[in-house]
Amino acid sequence: MDLHKKSAHELHDLLVRKEIKAAEITDNYLKCIEKAQLAINAYTTVLAEKAKEQAVAVDEKIAQGEKIGFLAGIPGAIKDNICTLGIKTTCSSKILADFVPPYDASVVKKLKDASAVFLGKTNLDEFAMGGSTETSAFGTTHNPWNTNYVPGGSSGGSAAAVAAGMAAWSLGSDTGGSIRQPASYCGVVGLKPTYGRVSRYGLIAYASSLDQIGPLTRDVEDSAHLLNIIAGHDAMDSTCASEAVPDYTKSLVEDVKGLKIGLPAEYFVDGMDEDVKAAIDKAVSDYRSLGAEIVDISLPHTKYAIASYYLIACAEAATNLSRYDGVSYGARVEGDDIISMMTNTRTQKFGAEVKRRIMIGNYALSEGYYDAYYLKALKVRRLIKEDYDKAFEKVDVILAPVAPTPAYEIGSIISDPLQMYLQDICTVPLNLAGLPAISLRCGTSKGGLPIGMQLIGKAFDEPTIIKAAYTYEQGKDFYKEVAEVSK
Ligand code: GLN
Repeated sequence: MDLHKKSAHELHDLLVRKEIKAAEITDNYLKCIEKAQLAINAYTTVLAEKAKEQAVAVDEKIAQGEKIGFLAGIPGAIKDNICTLGIKTTCSSKILADFVPPYDASVVKKLKDASAVFLGKTNLDEFAMGGSTETSAFGTTHNPWNTNYVPGGSSGGSAAAVAAGMAAWSLGSDTGGSIRQPASYCGVVGLKPTYGRVSRYGLIAYASSLDQIGPLTRDVEDSAHLLNIIAGHDAMDSTCASEAVPDYTKSLVEDVKGLKIGLPAEYFVDGMDEDVKAAIDKAVSDYRSLGAEIVDISLPHTKYAIASYYLIACAEAATNLSRYDGVSYGARVEGDDIISMMTNTRTQKFGAEVKRRIMIGNYALSEGYYDAYYLKALKVRRLIKEDYDKAFEKVDVILAPVAPTPAYEIGSIISDPLQMYLQDICTVPLNLAGLPAISLRCGTSKGGLPIGMQLIGKAFDEPTIIKAAYTYEQGKDFYKEVAEVSK
């Protein structure tokens, strides 16, 4: 039985029917990790012993006749910017290389209550700043479909782990695309919830007004189940919404008849890869034949989204990262006095991309420039949100590419920051508007790499995008594929 190829819901059914033990599932995943970790580098920390203990505890519950929840005994992985009590949480940065949080993030607590098994922590771009996992201080993660290619980022480890059968599910975070874009590059399902839908307590902040945690899974059904577990109000996060949480699995029905799907002209950018264009066109015609109505729409301020996003994200990052000063926690590099200690610590322990963003952010916030940059970026943010509000008067969901190209070769654009930032054109606008979106595979490039599309919804309308994604997925079998890697 190819356990590592199964979705979480298939594994759950096997457990409920007592056809397999949770310990076997976990052992199997640990073997897959052992086989593929060297080639993929999806994990920063593997928790083999703890995972086995968690699995055995679930087997004991089952043996005692206890009814188990969806995720009980199902092994997954947590992005390494989400705090885990007693387990290193590094943000893939040298500055937090030895940081062991004294508390669990709220999502981790919820997953523990659900008796999930934690296989480990996954690699990311340093502090989630990047789109390829190449800025990690602990080495690049490789795309399981072609190890010379990036897995995307910043949740590259989380996406690669699911794609390579090294985890049945994972958590990522999405500030400007970091769940959806790696999901697209690795051919898995990534859901970025509405801002405030999932608690950020214990998510190490990159840009607090944009960050959101969400699941990466093998299929849409698993995504709905995971969201059921992690969504909901949390008194520990004042930005977490008190909106009631529906049962997202109720949206796992095939029905897009009459659904109005908007196609935003501005997301089909110049220089877009032909294979991506063809895959999206095919998805659009599939939706049409499923009974959806396709509507051309315009989101005119999209062209300002990258500039606005990078100003806001960097401004917030500069503020959030000021706490790493060698005093309270994280690494310290000594110096002759306190100033040189702080300077040495930050100079030696932050990577180049993080430093670049701190500089951009401080510049944008500094006196004399604030109005011209930061304040203007906030005004543009409002215009972008209004574009979506207007579009959603006409349509129920918006369908768009996730990125202008499929995954690219490792090292090919990382030395050109502007080129890197421009890749985010299709993902950052909706983070600025706080909207939910799901990314799922809709094709394959001529080079054999997955291509994804995203379905964007109204605020708190995850049910509609889940339903639309689920309906599309039923006719396809992309999600049954797992990249076989070993080295
Ligand atoms: N690539 C974007 C950035 O570098 C998005 C990152 C993210 O969502 N964490 O900021």
